[in-house]
Amino acid sequence: MGDEVRCRVCGEAPGPVAEALGICLDCIRERPDEAMPHIERAHEVARRRHGLPARPPRTEGGVSCGLCSNRCIMGEGERGYCGLRWNEGGLRSLSDASEGLLYAYLDPHITNCCAAWFCPGATGAGYPRYAYRDGAERGYSNLAVFLYGCNFDCLFCQNPSHKELDPRRWVSADALAGLAAEGPKVSCICFFGGSPEPQLPFTINASEAALEVRRGRPLRICFEWNGCGDPFLVRRAAELSLVSGGNVKFDLKCFTPELSLALSGVPNRQAYR
Ligand code: SF4
Ligand code: SF4
Repeated sequence: MGDEVRCRVCGEAPGPVAEALGICLDCIRERPDEAMPHIERAHEVARRRHGLPARPPRTEGGVSCGLCSNRCIMGEGERGYCGLRWNEGGLRSLSDASEGLLYAYLDPHITNCCAAWFCPGATGAGYPRYAYRDGAERGYSNLAVFLYGCNFDCLFCQNPSHKELDPRRWVSADALAGLAAEGPKVSCICFFGGSPEPQLPFTINASEAALEVRRGRPLRICFEWNGCGDPFLVRRAAELSLVSGGNVKFDLKCFTPELSLALSGVPNRQAYR
Protein backbone atom coordinates (compact mmCIF):
# COMPACT_ATOMS: atom_id res chain seq x y z
CA MET A 1 0.00 0.00 0.00
CA GLY A 2 1.33 3.44 -0.87
CA ASP A 3 1.21 6.42 1.46
CA GLU A 4 -2.24 7.77 2.15
CA VAL A 5 -2.83 11.07 0.33
CA ARG A 6 -3.98 13.80 2.72
CA CYS A 7 -6.14 16.74 1.71
CA ARG A 8 -4.14 19.95 1.31
CA VAL A 9 -6.96 22.01 2.81
CA CYS A 10 -8.13 20.08 5.90
CA GLY A 11 -5.04 17.91 6.31
CA GLU A 12 -7.22 14.82 6.73
CA ALA A 13 -7.74 11.72 4.60
CA PRO A 14 -11.51 11.29 5.08
CA GLY A 15 -11.82 9.09 2.02
CA PRO A 16 -9.95 8.52 -1.22
CA VAL A 17 -8.03 11.69 -2.21
CA ALA A 18 -6.74 11.83 -5.79
CA GLU A 19 -3.01 12.49 -5.82
CA ALA A 20 -3.30 14.71 -8.93
CA LEU A 21 -5.74 17.00 -7.12
CA GLY A 22 -4.77 16.66 -3.46
CA ILE A 23 -8.16 17.89 -2.18
CA CYS A 24 -10.86 15.77 -0.54
CA LEU A 25 -14.46 15.73 -1.72
CA ASP A 26 -15.77 17.52 1.38
CA CYS A 27 -13.36 20.44 1.01
CA ILE A 28 -14.15 20.82 -2.72
CA ARG A 29 -17.83 21.10 -1.80
CA GLU A 30 -17.65 22.97 1.51
CA ARG A 31 -14.43 25.02 1.39
CA PRO A 32 -14.22 25.96 -2.32
CA ASP A 33 -12.39 29.28 -1.74
CA GLU A 34 -9.49 27.46 -0.08
CA ALA A 35 -9.63 24.50 -2.48
CA MET A 36 -9.70 26.51 -5.72
CA PRO A 37 -6.03 27.59 -5.88
CA HIS A 38 -4.99 23.93 -5.53
CA ILE A 39 -7.50 22.88 -8.19
CA GLU A 40 -6.29 25.54 -10.61
CA ARG A 41 -2.71 24.53 -10.00
CA ALA A 42 -3.48 20.84 -10.69
CA HIS A 43 -4.97 21.67 -14.09
CA GLU A 44 -2.21 24.10 -14.92
CA VAL A 45 0.41 21.40 -14.34
CA ALA A 46 -1.52 18.79 -16.35
CA ARG A 47 -2.01 21.15 -19.30
CA ARG A 48 1.42 22.74 -19.41
CA ARG A 49 3.03 19.55 -20.72
CA HIS A 50 0.76 19.77 -23.79
CA GLY A 51 1.34 23.49 -24.31
CA LEU A 52 -2.29 24.22 -23.43
CA PRO A 53 -3.41 27.33 -21.51
CA ALA A 54 -4.21 26.93 -17.82
CA ARG A 55 -7.64 28.52 -18.24
CA PRO A 56 -9.79 29.92 -21.08
CA PRO A 57 -8.13 33.19 -22.13
CA ARG A 58 -10.00 36.47 -21.56
CA THR A 59 -7.68 39.01 -23.14
CA GLU A 60 -9.28 42.36 -23.75
CA GLY A 61 -9.25 43.26 -27.42
CA GLY A 62 -8.48 39.67 -28.48
CA VAL A 63 -10.33 37.55 -31.02
CA SER A 64 -13.30 35.58 -29.70
CA CYS A 65 -14.48 32.07 -30.30
CA GLY A 66 -18.04 31.03 -29.50
CA LEU A 67 -17.93 27.34 -30.44
CA CYS A 68 -18.28 26.28 -26.81
CA SER A 69 -19.22 27.70 -23.43
CA ASN A 70 -15.60 28.60 -22.64
CA ARG A 71 -16.00 31.57 -25.02
CA CYS A 72 -12.26 32.18 -25.26
CA ILE A 73 -10.99 35.67 -26.07
CA MET A 74 -7.46 35.19 -27.39
CA GLY A 75 -4.85 37.92 -27.46
CA GLU A 76 -2.16 37.88 -30.16
CA GLY A 77 -0.14 34.64 -29.78
CA GLU A 78 -2.62 33.07 -27.36
CA ARG A 79 -4.30 29.69 -27.82
CA GLY A 80 -7.88 28.79 -26.89
CA TYR A 81 -8.56 26.32 -24.09
CA CYS A 82 -9.06 23.38 -26.52
CA GLY A 83 -5.78 24.14 -28.26
CA LEU A 84 -7.39 23.92 -31.70
CA ARG A 85 -7.81 27.67 -32.19
CA TRP A 86 -5.40 30.53 -31.68
CA ASN A 87 -4.73 34.16 -32.53
CA GLU A 88 -1.95 34.80 -35.00
CA GLY A 89 -2.77 38.03 -36.71
CA GLY A 90 -6.42 36.92 -36.48
CA LEU A 91 -8.32 33.76 -35.58
CA ARG A 92 -6.63 30.56 -36.82
CA SER A 93 -7.90 27.03 -36.41
CA LEU A 94 -6.80 23.45 -36.90
CA SER A 95 -10.41 22.58 -37.75
CA ASP A 96 -13.10 24.30 -39.76
CA ALA A 97 -16.19 23.24 -41.72
CA SER A 98 -14.14 21.62 -44.46
CA GLU A 99 -11.27 20.00 -42.52
CA GLY A 100 -11.10 18.26 -39.16
CA LEU A 101 -8.44 16.75 -36.94
CA LEU A 102 -9.38 13.12 -36.35
CA TYR A 103 -8.70 9.45 -36.44
CA ALA A 104 -11.43 7.21 -37.92
CA TYR A 105 -11.82 3.44 -37.72
CA LEU A 106 -14.48 0.79 -38.25
CA ASP A 107 -16.06 -0.74 -35.15
CA PRO A 108 -18.14 -3.85 -36.00
CA HIS A 109 -21.69 -4.03 -34.64
CA ILE A 110 -22.70 -4.74 -32.02
CA THR A 111 -20.33 -2.14 -30.60
CA ASN A 112 -19.60 -1.35 -26.98
CA CYS A 113 -21.58 1.89 -27.43
CA CYS A 114 -23.38 3.00 -24.26
CA ALA A 115 -26.57 3.45 -26.33
CA ALA A 116 -26.46 -0.11 -27.70
CA TRP A 117 -29.31 -1.30 -25.48
CA PHE A 118 -31.81 0.84 -27.40
CA CYS A 119 -29.94 1.83 -30.58
CA PRO A 120 -31.22 0.64 -33.98
CA GLY A 121 -27.74 -0.82 -34.58
CA ALA A 122 -28.17 -3.32 -31.78
CA THR A 123 -31.95 -3.71 -31.57
CA GLY A 124 -33.33 -3.08 -35.05
CA ALA A 125 -35.54 -0.27 -33.64
CA GLY A 126 -36.97 1.75 -36.50
CA TYR A 127 -36.22 -0.94 -39.11
CA PRO A 128 -36.14 -0.53 -42.11
CA ARG A 129 -35.91 3.28 -41.97
CA TYR A 130 -33.08 3.46 -39.41
CA ALA A 131 -31.54 -0.01 -39.47
CA TYR A 132 -30.51 -2.65 -42.00
CA ARG A 133 -31.78 -5.55 -39.96
CA ASP A 134 -34.82 -6.23 -37.82
CA GLY A 135 -32.49 -7.03 -34.93
CA ALA A 136 -28.77 -6.77 -34.28
CA GLU A 137 -26.90 -5.39 -37.30
CA ARG A 138 -24.28 -8.14 -37.46
CA GLY A 139 -22.00 -7.76 -40.45
CA TYR A 140 -22.26 -3.94 -40.37
CA SER A 141 -19.98 -1.39 -38.74
CA ASN A 142 -19.95 1.93 -36.98
CA LEU A 143 -17.51 4.50 -38.36
CA ALA A 144 -15.98 5.72 -35.11
CA VAL A 145 -14.55 9.23 -35.44
CA PHE A 146 -12.11 10.16 -32.69
CA LEU A 147 -11.84 13.95 -32.75
CA TYR A 148 -8.74 15.60 -31.37
CA GLY A 149 -9.14 18.49 -28.93
CA CYS A 150 -11.57 19.10 -26.10
CA ASN A 151 -13.16 22.08 -24.37
CA PHE A 152 -12.78 20.30 -21.00
CA ASP A 153 -9.68 19.21 -19.12
CA CYS A 154 -10.82 16.14 -17.19
CA LEU A 155 -7.91 15.05 -15.02
CA PHE A 156 -8.79 11.38 -15.47
CA CYS A 157 -9.78 11.47 -19.15
CA GLN A 158 -9.91 7.96 -20.64
CA ASN A 159 -8.69 9.29 -24.02
CA PRO A 160 -5.93 11.79 -23.16
CA SER A 161 -4.29 11.33 -26.58
CA HIS A 162 -6.87 13.85 -27.83
CA LYS A 163 -4.44 16.51 -26.62
CA GLU A 164 -1.88 15.52 -29.26
CA LEU A 165 -2.92 18.04 -31.88
CA ASP A 166 -0.98 16.89 -34.91
CA PRO A 167 -1.91 18.58 -38.21
CA ARG A 168 -1.03 15.32 -39.98
CA ARG A 169 -4.38 14.09 -38.67
CA TRP A 170 -6.27 16.44 -40.98
CA VAL A 171 -9.12 14.81 -42.90
CA SER A 172 -11.42 16.66 -45.25
CA ALA A 173 -15.18 16.60 -44.69
CA ASP A 174 -15.65 15.16 -48.20
CA ALA A 175 -13.15 12.34 -47.54
CA LEU A 176 -14.85 11.43 -44.26
CA ALA A 177 -18.30 11.61 -45.85
CA GLY A 178 -17.08 9.35 -48.68
CA LEU A 179 -15.70 6.84 -46.21
CA ALA A 180 -19.02 6.70 -44.39
CA ALA A 181 -21.40 6.89 -47.29
CA GLU A 182 -19.63 4.63 -49.75
CA GLY A 183 -18.61 1.93 -47.30
CA PRO A 184 -21.54 -0.45 -47.99
CA LYS A 185 -21.41 -1.93 -44.51
CA VAL A 186 -21.16 1.33 -42.55
CA SER A 187 -24.49 1.95 -40.83
CA CYS A 188 -23.59 4.80 -38.48
CA ILE A 189 -21.04 7.49 -37.69
CA CYS A 190 -20.24 8.25 -34.08
CA PHE A 191 -18.31 11.44 -33.28
CA PHE A 192 -16.46 11.38 -29.99
CA GLY A 193 -12.93 12.18 -28.84
CA GLY A 194 -11.90 14.46 -27.01
CA SER A 195 -15.31 15.97 -27.43
CA PRO A 196 -16.95 17.19 -30.65
CA GLU A 197 -17.76 20.75 -29.46
CA PRO A 198 -14.62 22.50 -30.79
CA GLN A 199 -15.08 20.76 -34.16
CA LEU A 200 -18.87 21.07 -34.50
CA PRO A 201 -18.78 22.96 -37.84
CA PHE A 202 -16.72 20.11 -39.31
CA THR A 203 -18.86 17.28 -37.90
CA ILE A 204 -22.07 18.92 -39.10
CA ASN A 205 -20.70 19.56 -42.58
CA ALA A 206 -19.27 16.04 -42.94
CA SER A 207 -22.52 14.47 -41.66
CA GLU A 208 -24.68 16.47 -44.04
CA ALA A 209 -22.44 15.47 -46.95
CA ALA A 210 -22.54 11.78 -45.94
CA LEU A 211 -26.34 11.77 -45.62
CA GLU A 212 -26.64 13.44 -48.99
CA VAL A 213 -24.56 10.71 -50.67
CA ARG A 214 -26.21 7.85 -48.76
CA ARG A 215 -29.72 9.17 -49.53
CA GLY A 216 -32.54 6.84 -48.54
CA ARG A 217 -30.37 4.10 -47.00
CA PRO A 218 -29.77 4.09 -43.22
CA LEU A 219 -26.78 6.05 -41.94
CA ARG A 220 -27.24 7.09 -38.34
CA ILE A 221 -25.37 10.14 -37.06
CA CYS A 222 -24.37 10.02 -33.38
CA PHE A 223 -22.56 12.36 -31.02
CA GLU A 224 -20.92 11.65 -27.70
CA TRP A 225 -20.08 14.92 -25.98
CA ASN A 226 -19.82 16.93 -22.76
CA GLY A 227 -22.81 19.06 -23.78
CA CYS A 228 -21.21 22.54 -23.64
CA GLY A 229 -21.20 23.42 -27.33
CA ASP A 230 -22.69 26.50 -28.97
CA PRO A 231 -26.49 26.01 -28.63
CA PHE A 232 -27.23 26.76 -32.29
CA LEU A 233 -24.67 24.21 -33.55
CA VAL A 234 -25.70 21.67 -30.92
CA ARG A 235 -29.30 21.94 -32.13
CA ARG A 236 -28.25 21.40 -35.75
CA ALA A 237 -26.14 18.39 -34.79
CA ALA A 238 -29.00 16.94 -32.76
CA GLU A 239 -31.39 17.42 -35.70
CA LEU A 240 -29.07 15.34 -37.87
CA SER A 241 -29.14 12.58 -35.24
CA LEU A 242 -32.93 12.81 -35.04
CA VAL A 243 -33.61 12.52 -38.77
CA SER A 244 -31.08 9.71 -39.23
CA GLY A 245 -32.18 7.60 -36.23
CA GLY A 246 -28.93 8.21 -34.34
CA ASN A 247 -28.29 9.13 -30.73
CA VAL A 248 -26.88 12.07 -28.79
CA LYS A 249 -25.01 10.95 -25.70
CA PHE A 250 -24.16 13.42 -22.92
CA ASP A 251 -21.31 12.79 -20.53
CA LEU A 252 -22.75 14.93 -17.74
CA LYS A 253 -19.80 14.53 -15.35
CA CYS A 254 -20.63 16.65 -12.25
CA PHE A 255 -23.73 18.54 -11.17
CA THR A 256 -22.00 20.60 -8.46
CA PRO A 257 -20.18 23.58 -10.08
CA GLU A 258 -17.13 23.26 -7.79
CA LEU A 259 -16.80 19.57 -8.66
CA SER A 260 -16.89 20.37 -12.36
CA LEU A 261 -14.01 22.82 -11.90
CA ALA A 262 -12.09 20.20 -9.92
CA LEU A 263 -12.65 17.35 -12.36
CA SER A 264 -12.82 19.15 -15.73
CA GLY A 265 -11.13 22.51 -15.15
CA VAL A 266 -14.12 24.55 -16.43
CA PRO A 267 -17.81 25.06 -15.51
CA ASN A 268 -20.36 22.77 -17.18
CA ARG A 269 -23.64 24.55 -16.40
CA GLN A 270 -24.53 24.78 -20.08
CA ALA A 271 -24.87 21.00 -20.30
CA TYR A 272 -27.77 21.18 -17.82
CA ARG A 273 -29.73 23.93 -19.59
S1 SF4 B 1 -13.81 25.83 -29.13
FE1 SF4 B 1 -14.16 26.48 -27.01
S2 SF4 B 1 -12.23 26.07 -25.99
FE2 SF4 B 1 -11.79 26.05 -28.18
S3 SF4 B 1 -11.16 28.16 -28.66
FE3 SF4 B 1 -13.36 28.02 -29.03
S4 SF4 B 1 -14.31 28.72 -27.13
FE4 SF4 B 1 -12.16 28.19 -26.65
S1 SF4 C 1 -26.00 5.00 -31.75
FE1 SF4 C 1 -24.73 4.88 -33.48
S2 SF4 C 1 -22.76 4.50 -32.61
FE2 SF4 C 1 -24.19 3.95 -31.11
S3 SF4 C 1 -24.51 1.77 -31.39
FE3 SF4 C 1 -26.07 2.90 -32.45
S4 SF4 C 1 -25.37 3.02 -34.47
FE4 SF4 C 1 -23.62 2.55 -33.20
